[in-house]
Amino acid sequence: MTQIEDWDPQRLNLFRQGLAAWYQASGRDLPWRQTCDPYRIWISEIMLQQTTVATVIPYFGRFLDAFPDLASLAKADEQDVLRLWEGLGYYSRARNIHKAARHLVDECHGIFPSDPADLEKLPGVGRYTAGAIASFAFDQRAPIVEANTLRLYCRLLGFDGDPRAAAGQKLLWSFAEKVLPDTQPGDFNQAMMELGATVCSPTDPDCEECPVKTCCRAFTDGTQDSIPKLGKRPRITPLSEVTVAIYRDGKVLLWQNQPGEWWSGLWGFPRFSAPWKSEVEVDQSLSKRIEKQLHHSILEATGLQVEFSQTLPLIRHSVTRYRITLYCFVAEYSGGEVDCGDRDIEWVQPSELDAHPLSMTARKVANIIASS
Ligand code: SF4
Repeated sequence: MTQIEDWDPQRLNLFRQGLAAWYQASGRDLPWRQTCDPYRIWISEIMLQQTTVATVIPYFGRFLDAFPDLASLAKADEQDVLRLWEGLGYYSRARNIHKAARHLVDECHGIFPSDPADLEKLPGVGRYTAGAIASFAFDQRAPIVEANTLRLYCRLLGFDGDPRAAAGQKLLWSFAEKVLPDTQPGDFNQAMMELGATVCSPTDPDCEECPVKTCCRAFTDGTQDSIPKLGKRPRITPLSEVTVAIYRDGKVLLWQNQPGEWWSGLWGFPRFSAPWKSEVEVDQSLSKRIEKQLHHSILEATGLQVEFSQTLPLIRHSVTRYRITLYCFVAEYSGGEVDCGDRDIEWVQPSELDAHPLSMTARKVANIIASS
């Protein structure tokens, strides 16, 4: 039985003291800590959504070098923002911070709000991110629940229900509010996230070394390995797609991904569903049947006729629940007028590909053709 009421003042004190001492001794010195600059904290928090610390560190440095403050980000071209975000994924995050920066500069004199309710009005800022910015930057007493603290709270409470369901969310946000101290709530929230990330890990939590184990219900009950109970992952769906780099007079065709598509706003080589159902073997000498199918699909997607010149290595990658096999080709224009529907297109020199924000797979193809 989960009881927030069990957390009486004595237990809360013990917990907070143990956590604070541990964080001071063991907290990692990450580039976005030791600052109260809401801009830096905001950028780091958005980057860290669905992304590991190790991946974010170099992106954070490059982004801050290019856009050191709100004003420089607001002035930037969206394409430059996306180029710096390239490879981090979830590109709506980059578009949203750009939009939010413009809004803050144009409508709020370039001043960040400190109230979580106002922060939540910014594009891409949810309850967690608002709480993080408000508490880290402004020392507001704003609770947080994100992936690491969600797991930690569930275990501290011994909560074995679904933490993503409405009742679970209500419980965890109430607990986050209850444990939060009046003084230095920002440090406390950072310490909770750090403990969740480094000690109370998803598998094999290091309970013996945990500074708050005497307060932890899951540890007492020996249930830390079965909590939290997360719902089943969605079933993986295999997909086969084709991408083709089409050359004409030394330039290569790029199209821009549209709103609602994966990698919206980024550029790529024409890409479409493979015209075959199950995986096929493709090599340099395409079979007549495959070549005919590809000609038809390329004509439909781009309006162009082509001659194939090269088959590139397959790329396998995942997007959300899709496991994708991407067949990659290089071809030479042989006729027709470009017709890619409503998409923006550009014919670019291979040497200019570096300046365009590309999807990760398009960048892989670009790197191969630029070096060949
Ligand atoms: Fe997590 Fe174990 Fe610490 Fe409990 S005792 S908070 S389960 S690491």
